Amino acid sequence: MLKKVCSFCGRTEREVPLLITGLSGYICNDCAKSAYQIVQENLKSSKPSVHFSDSLDDVPKPQEIKEFLDQYVIGQDDAKRYLAVSVYNHYKRLAQKADDDGVEIEKSNIIMVGSTGTGKTLLARTIARLLKVPFTIVDATVFTEAGYVGEDVESILSRLLQVADGDVRAAERGIVFIDEIDKIARKADNPSITRDVSGEGVQQGLLKLLEGSIVNVPPKGGRKHPDQEYTQVDTHNILFICGGAFDGIEKKIAQRLNTHVVGFNSVQHTRNLDKGNLMKYILPQDLKSFGLIPEIIGRLPVLTYLNPLDRDALRRILLEPKNSLVKQQVKLFAMDGIGLEFTDEVLDYIVDKAVEYKLGARGLRSIMETLMVDLQYDAPSRKGAEKRITVTKEYAQRQLENSFLQEAVDA
Ligand code: ADP
Repeated sequence: MLKKVCSFCGRTEREVPLLITGLSGYICNDCAKSAYQIVQENLKSSKPSVHFSDSLDDVPKPQEIKEFLDQYVIGQDDAKRYLAVSVYNHYKRLAQKADDDGVEIEKSNIIMVGSTGTGKTLLARTIARLLKVPFTIVDATVFTEAGYVGEDVESILSRLLQVADGDVRAAERGIVFIDEIDKIARKADNPSITRDVSGEGVQQGLLKLLEGSIVNVPPKGGRKHPDQEYTQVDTHNILFICGGAFDGIEKKIAQRLNTHVVGFNSVQHTRNLDKGNLMKYILPQDLKSFGLIPEIIGRLPVLTYLNPLDRDALRRILLEPKNSLVKQQVKLFAMDGIGLEFTDEVLDYIVDKAVEYKLGARGLRSIMETLMVDLQYDAPSRKGAEKRITVTKEYAQRQLENSFLQEAVDA
């Protein structure tokens, strides 16, 4: 009969707390634990954290991408379609063989224009969730030209590397969302006389990342330093999505549209304009008038816009997304065994307030939090009967009228 010793460390049954019996051997608890750790480490280093498959079969098709986005983001159909197509093309680009026919699919970085709180960041985040690629959001306002107080644009890649757990190959296929790209517009449409270190200088710096180059990246971020070791990151396959509110760009669009009134067809064209939402007529030249340099615009070939959120959209945002604010509250209370309901009037009231506060969908969240905080405080300690709560408009009015939110608006 087989001797009862651990087949890995050779200790006997008496020398170990536990000996597990297998078909043709034994393993003690210590060796089992070490084996588990080895397995975990190996799996971690061999598992690609992104779609590395060079086949398109695993990549969701544009319609599937849009359907996924629909679950989280309300409206914004044009932006969703553009994003879905660009991301799909991006994966086609990754899948293309260095080949034969000489046709190379070029990168399709994206720029999304739309007021604050309309879903630009949400769209980028949601796409990243679907594709499981390293994804990072950076704010363009923190950058300055190398040598000035602020961050170098290369720190974008440091962050991507951190998100990818230092895996350079994964980072090189990631997605970067650059928010507030409009804040690095140059201050006037003419090239500046004085040095513009936070505007045009940064745009020049960004250019080399966008067009694809091999960049020395300080792995831990921060300023470049001669003694530091760099990691080389190739940005050819990184997809850049830029977003910005471009406040006031409608004026530029309106000016352009007016200047084109003369000419055949144009009279009829202007008559049909949707004057409430000029953003949808945006063209690359409007970005130039706003102060982006033509080279940057050229590297952001996919230009799309987001609609302002109307009352109907705000109401849908409260209710419909997979993790809508209402669904989140209901879940919070359900965890205490309490059924929570909102009346139709209170939902309309929340929407009215969000419109009044002019914070877009961002306002909904603060209103909901202010409204619910007392109930969230009391409800878990309630005894017995009160297992159902209905939030009414009257209750919401009382809560909000005493709150700092209302004071901020009144002030
Ligand atoms: P921005 O356009 O300024 O990047 P965000 O995407 O950060 O705006 O939106 C702020 C918040 O508002 C989001 O986290 C989300 O909860 C909500 N939101 C904004 N737009 C939408 C939308 N179209 N659909 C669903 N939620 C939205």
